[in-house]
Amino acid sequence: MSDKHVLLGMGQEELKTLLKSLGQPAFRAGQVLAWLNKGVPFEEMTNLPKSLRESLRETCVDLPMSIHQTFPSRKDDTVKFLFSCLDGNIIEGVLMHYHYGYSLCISTQVGCKMGCAFCASTLSGCVRSLTAAEMLSQVLLANRFLGEKGHVGHIVLMGSGEPLDNYDNVVAFLRMVNAEDGLNISLRNISLSTCGLVPQMERLSCEGLPVTLSISLHAPNDQIRRQIMPIANTYAIDELMDAVRAYVRKTGRRVVFEYALIDQLNSRPEHARELARLVSGLQCHVNLIPLNHVDEHSLRPASPESVQLFLKTLEEKHVSATIRREMGSDIGGACGQLRRSVLEGKA
Ligand code: SAH
Repeated sequence: MSDKHVLLGMGQEELKTLLKSLGQPAFRAGQVLAWLNKGVPFEEMTNLPKSLRESLRETCVDLPMSIHQTFPSRKDDTVKFLFSCLDGNIIEGVLMHYHYGYSLCISTQVGCKMGCAFCASTLSGCVRSLTAAEMLSQVLLANRFLGEKGHVGHIVLMGSGEPLDNYDNVVAFLRMVNAEDGLNISLRNISLSTCGLVPQMERLSCEGLPVTLSISLHAPNDQIRRQIMPIANTYAIDELMDAVRAYVRKTGRRVVFEYALIDQLNSRPEHARELARLVSGLQCHVNLIPLNHVDEHSLRPASPESVQLFLKTLEEKHVSATIRREMGSDIGGACGQLRRSVLEGKA
């Protein structure tokens, strides 16, 4: 690890002290922070004296993270990133190109402790939570990677980790990335995906941060949900749905339910009908995900025919639903798979 000061993530006071040691007045801290939050490299911080830019370059690094490796898909425009943290931890992110622009899927923790039976991120538990600056760095590094081609306009908190298990840092990140003098990304363009931590969902609905909430539901009842998601033993679906309704009421936002279709478990037409009853009357969309097979798990994806039948059954019940388009399937599709293959020396 280098002994240089890491600037993004420093508080205003700490930065003032550092700049003072470089012979600079206090007001420079605000200028430097504004540039940092936009991801502008030291050389291009044009309202700073040239000598200061040079001493910053010699004594400091701007971001607490760097791009470790990139994996461009050969099938589409998707790029998977492995980012390395200063402490050597590796996390992953995915950049996707849609007709409306670039969307980045970021990680919120190194690993995850939620233990979902189909997910690769959780296989080795949670090493630690990421800081707000580390989350913002993923966006800034993706922008640097894109260069002239464009910039990240949408963010999904759907990489490794449970965002609401890292509540304070995630909320701080949302405020940073939405700041007018920062990247100024609209909260409407940000989705936060949760396995359903009910108290934190209730807290989030009162933050004045109306992001799109995605709920990883994956089952129409507690009996099935408990077989694949340990969190279902803590919060019953009824409690979860109450928190979802409160979120819709308080934020006015439509929510999204994620539903991975698993063979023999949750993908029969009667499950679709049960799901339709559960979400009826709610301002929501159901995202059907053909399960990504993870080597370490025995669960199998539902057949394409049962995925279609599931969708049709929901539509007959007037539930808005789509099947998620697979992107970058050649580069370690499922959540946490790429990082895992790197940790195991297979990438
Ligand atoms: N912890 C959060 C966000 C990370 S997971 C959450 O649970 O929502 C992002 C999404 O990918 C979740 O909906 C998760 O359930 C889903 N997912 C994880 N592994 C998957 C797999 N093998 N196939 C399909 N979806 C998967």
